[in-house]
Amino acid sequence: MLSSLAFHRTGLRLLSLVRKIDPALLPVSLIYALTQVAGIYVGLALTAGLVDALVALELRGAVVYATALVLTSFVVSCVCAHCKRRATVGGMRCAWRFSLMLREKALSLSYETAEDPKLTERIAYIERTAQMHGGIGTLPRFYRDLIGAAVNMLTCVSLVVALAFAQPASKGTLGVAASPAVSLALLTLVLLVALGGNTLVGRFRARLLDWVTSTHSSVENRIMYLLNLVLFDRRVPKVARIYDMGDMLMRNLEKNHGASMEYFDRWISGERCIDVGTSAVNAVFTVASYALVAVKVLAGAITVGAFTQYAGALAQFGAAYTALVSNNGDLRQCCGYLQEFLDFMDMEDPRPAGSIPVEKRDDGQFELAFEHVSFRYPGTDAWVLRDINLKIDTLGKLAVVGPNGAGKTTFIKLLCRLYDPTEGRITLNGVDIRKYDEEEYRDLFGVVFQDFRLFAFPVWENLAAGYPRDDRRLWKSLAQAGADGLVRTWPEGLETRLYKDLGDGVMVSGGEAQKLALARALYKDAPVVILDEPTAALDPISEAEVYAGFDRMVEGRTAIYISHRMSSCRFCDDIIVFDGGRVVERGSHDDLLAAGGLYAELWDAQASYYVG
Ligand code: ADP
Repeated sequence: MLSSLAFHRTGLRLLSLVRKIDPALLPVSLIYALTQVAGIYVGLALTAGLVDALVALELRGAVVYATALVLTSFVVSCVCAHCKRRATVGGMRCAWRFSLMLREKALSLSYETAEDPKLTERIAYIERTAQMHGGIGTLPRFYRDLIGAAVNMLTCVSLVVALAFAQPASKGTLGVAASPAVSLALLTLVLLVALGGNTLVGRFRARLLDWVTSTHSSVENRIMYLLNLVLFDRRVPKVARIYDMGDMLMRNLEKNHGASMEYFDRWISGERCIDVGTSAVNAVFTVASYALVAVKVLAGAITVGAFTQYAGALAQFGAAYTALVSNNGDLRQCCGYLQEFLDFMDMEDPRPAGSIPVEKRDDGQFELAFEHVSFRYPGTDAWVLRDINLKIDTLGKLAVVGPNGAGKTTFIKLLCRLYDPTEGRITLNGVDIRKYDEEEYRDLFGVVFQDFRLFAFPVWENLAAGYPRDDRRLWKSLAQAGADGLVRTWPEGLETRLYKDLGDGVMVSGGEAQKLALARALYKDAPVVILDEPTAALDPISEAEVYAGFDRMVEGRTAIYISHRMSSCRFCDDIIVFDGGRVVERGSHDDLLAAGGLYAELWDAQASYYVG
């Protein structure tokens, strides 16, 4: 029993979170619950007074009771309406904070942790269950109804216990049947029947909810994936048309929807059985309790007015217990998936967090080195980099080349500390980079990854990102990246929004987007600029422009280019050749050509391709 209530520990922790988000929400919910119960029992007492006054033909008394009844009902509904309105606002505030907390936490995690697909799935589960069943915003409502039901039951029990003790005026069989001992015994029996019946129904309901949550969510998952894919994934329309995927996607949706409806149908059937069970238990309880109270009236232990009061109170008991059990079940389920949220919020990033500040230098002079670095992606067995030993000369232009899958991008990810080496270490000025403050260390790099991403924000916000806006520097970066002419053609200039996601933006080609991404990297004004396939999406003229502008672009900085286009290597002072996760050659263009190794092979292959 106690272990089945253990989830309330989670509930209490979540409630303390709710209290921090909206301090008024819990008191308001409590006032709502207590006012409702008070309304019921004050109403029953006043009704009893009214009935007795009418039976005794005391008209003035009847008018007073009737007026009090109307006033009570008015006050109760006003208080409850106000509390409900306030609680709705509080619930929305909690839902919003819940969403923000989830996102803040996800953004605070290291890239390595955040990229883990299992974690992505976990976050999606938390978000989805919150959307399906309500997040922490619904918790105060469940607890409100739970407390309301508990107080209702306690009030009812104390009233009927007082009823049981009422002494009958009659003697004989009726007097015995209405005596406190028999009444108490009967009352206990009736209450046990009600509690037992409702507990059984509650267990069935909990099992049903568990089944729905565990089995149905994967179907919902698939449906959400497909729905979003069709409408919101900008890459889909092309593929869908070329490969005639329209019918196939719709069939998939229908199939999953059919499965979803099957679950839904079984769920509803289950709920119907629960309703029937609850009604049966409550009917037995109501009949038995009416009989008990009627015997008391007939034996002269209570008045007819008191009969209505007690009968009303007993009628409350069944409904209150049903509400208690069902709210407890809902809370159990709610706390179950919100525990996932708490676990996620408590999650410690396993990566060591450094604290040493990074030395700020105006001359761009520092030393980056890889020492016996090997790397495997988390959760995989294959070595992607093996025993890398190299120093990066600052203020130079370094090219990183090699066949696909050689490990070039991974090398950059390690350099930027998006991942830590599995073995060995990377140093900045002789100190392991893990010891530096991560943000300060990352300030050293402006990177344009192959899968760079621009957003449906204005141009300036895309470029400035997390840094303060400075229009002069924005235009300078755009000019260096060769994109200033493009932005000047847009009437709103730096204020122009990109893409159509938010309605009114401009569409940019792959090459234009790449130039803007380049401008973003340059705006950061980091001492090291890294360009992963910087000209992949550019036409030959733009490519030639970018190469011609390399010196201007990276003035006073260290530049690292990853490129399949061997021609770009001619602009670099130093070339590192990767193959199979190892550095196989290093040197200048001329030296490497003369050596006749992999570099020369790659160069010849591309030259012959271009020549013909
Ligand atoms: P390159 O940039 O030279 O083409 P990458 O560094 O992108 O090579 O990839 C090197 C190897 O690492 C490839 O075999 C690739 O499949 C693997 N790889 C890349 N990213 C991941 C990842 N996130 N998880 C697992 N393996 C990865």
